[in-house]
Amino acid sequence: MQTLETDVVIVGGGAGGTYAALCLREAGLKPLIIAKGIIGKSGASIFAGNMVLAGTMLDGSEEEAQATRDWVVRWYNHFLCDQDYCLDAEKWIENVYYPELDELGLYLRRDNQGQIVKSFGAARGIAAKQQGQSGVLFIDRRRKQVRRAEIPTLEETAVTKVLRGDNGEAVGVVAFHYPTGEIYAIRAKAVVIATGPADRIAARATGTREQSGDGLALAYRAGGELLNLEIQWWHASDFKWPTVWQRMHIYPNPLVGTKETARMYNADGELFFDQSTDAPNSYAPYPTQLKRLAQQTEAGKARMDGGYETGYDHIEPEALKLYAHHMKTFEKVGLGYDEARVETAPTWHYRQGGINLDPHTMKTNVPGLYVAGAVGGHNNGSIGFVSYDAFVCAESIKGADLPADPAPLPTAQVNAEVARIEGLLHDMPEGGTTPTRLKMRIRDIMYEKMGFVKTKDGMESALDELRRIRAEDVPRMGLKDTTRVQNYGWLDGLDVFNLLDASELTILSALNRKESRGPFYRTDCPYTDNRNWLVKNILSDDGSGTVQYRIEPYKLPYLEPEFEREDYFKVDW
Ligand SMILES: Cc1cc2nc3c(=O)[nH]c(=O)nc-3n(C[C@H](O)[C@H](O)[C@H](O)COP(=O)(O)OP(=O)(O)OC[C@H]3O[C@@H](n4cnc5c(N)ncnc54)[C@H](O)[C@@H]3O)c2cc1C
Repeated sequence: MQTLETDVVIVGGGAGGTYAALCLREAGLKPLIIAKGIIGKSGASIFAGNMVLAGTMLDGSEEEAQATRDWVVRWYNHFLCDQDYCLDAEKWIENVYYPELDELGLYLRRDNQGQIVKSFGAARGIAAKQQGQSGVLFIDRRRKQVRRAEIPTLEETAVTKVLRGDNGEAVGVVAFHYPTGEIYAIRAKAVVIATGPADRIAARATGTREQSGDGLALAYRAGGELLNLEIQWWHASDFKWPTVWQRMHIYPNPLVGTKETARMYNADGELFFDQSTDAPNSYAPYPTQLKRLAQQTEAGKARMDGGYETGYDHIEPEALKLYAHHMKTFEKVGLGYDEARVETAPTWHYRQGGINLDPHTMKTNVPGLYVAGAVGGHNNGSIGFVSYDAFVCAESIKGADLPADPAPLPTAQVNAEVARIEGLLHDMPEGGTTPTRLKMRIRDIMYEKMGFVKTKDGMESALDELRRIRAEDVPRMGLKDTTRVQNYGWLDGLDVFNLLDASELTILSALNRKESRGPFYRTDCPYTDNRNWLVKNILSDDGSGTVQYRIEPYKLPYLEPEFEREDYFKVDW
């Protein structure tokens, strides 16, 4: 085992983790980024296709600024957000974030007159350099900035535990470098979780391989609270085939360069969704798409796992050629611009809920434990908001009364964690099973029973099955290969525990919310209930190992929903 020491350890190398590190470095602090994947190549940040504008930037009107505000609160967060946070983020994104990206040389798509090309509609977006490609170019810039600032990093390294001091405060982490099998114990004055919003918890998911709900599990096991885990988003129009293309998105969002938007068709070829007419005020109309899909499924004209098509074949080819990077996906299966329509299916996407925190400081309830980015339950994310979170997190750490030196390593916790990791490196027992098989089983359960259409019985049976896996299958887990080097099976063994924790807590959170809202739909509570459930749905462990539930109301200083309780399918947000 190796021991290291730093001022701030940052868990995650996406938009949140990298920017928090850059801000801390600029303030003279010593950050260390630990990323389970490669910095700038892992997590959700690479997938950001569009960049939402804020305020009145790029000649926007006050009506357009207000439409974006309205969209963020109503359509993107379904009122489950701090509205002052949203306003502060808007100002920062307009005045700091976009000017910084411009200075960095991120190419924002322009027309022949040199004007940045915007999407049509009330809430506006742009793209770098084409729609579908923005995140790759953006996060590559951040990776280079991190290298230039000589910020130390540990890549392909999974943080497996947050260490706590005598008073319960976060004092460091244990991490596992899977290319070598080396384990690190790291002392720090503060710990930042930046593990992102998108997890590969279901059989079809937009999350990458390394996203196994680690941030949620790490925070919860360290005494952190979790919030609104059930508010899980779905893409409704991702390629159904081939299976490995499950994240290939046919964007339903307002497009850059054309007023047309993607269309969805049922098994009879009838049009059933088009953002420009069905959800014109929403920049990300996924919950409306899902509602329409559920209705088609109910009518026997689609399924919740396919049997319907989405396409751009009605859109003028010139606009697609110029601005839609993802047209390449269609071309790869031999479809031209006027034939761009394929079978699609829902994919588990990012999560609006996450770790509970104060959005004005990014502090959690655990002293010394902060959040940077979309793993927080305060907002749905997006690369602009996540960058703002990272800025706030860094400001908060800079203003904190950090100790002169990190606390000593809590030896008993470190030894127990090392024993846990080493204990997973053993041969498969007779009649045993591999971690990979268990991960796949967990993901199947979550896709089948925790999909968009949830029933109480389905959720309870998913919970029973996960608990059976934990009790009966996990003890039988073993590896086919016990080498210490580049052993993904070993890492999968660690992932199983995170997947189980994150999945179980998600189900409990879903069972506790007795309504349907935004992307969250349960058939036994088919109404949006602002009277009782416009609340933070918080889970915590008081140390007894039993989940504790708490709800807290949201303040609604600027925008309020226009009803107390409404049929879920009649709510247009
Ligand atoms: C498919 C998709 C499309 C999207 N489209 C858009 C869009 O068009 N526009 C937009 O603005 N936003 C979009 N988003 C949202 C946006 O990408 C995210 O909100 C944002 O990138 C999240 O950044 P982050 O830093 O919080 O997390 P991420 O970018 O997810 O980074 C997480 C990091 O944590 C690391 N990690 C995970 N577990 C561990 C561990 N145990 N130890 C160490 N490291 C760990 C990962 O390797 C990764 O480096 C999209 C997201 C997805 C998934």
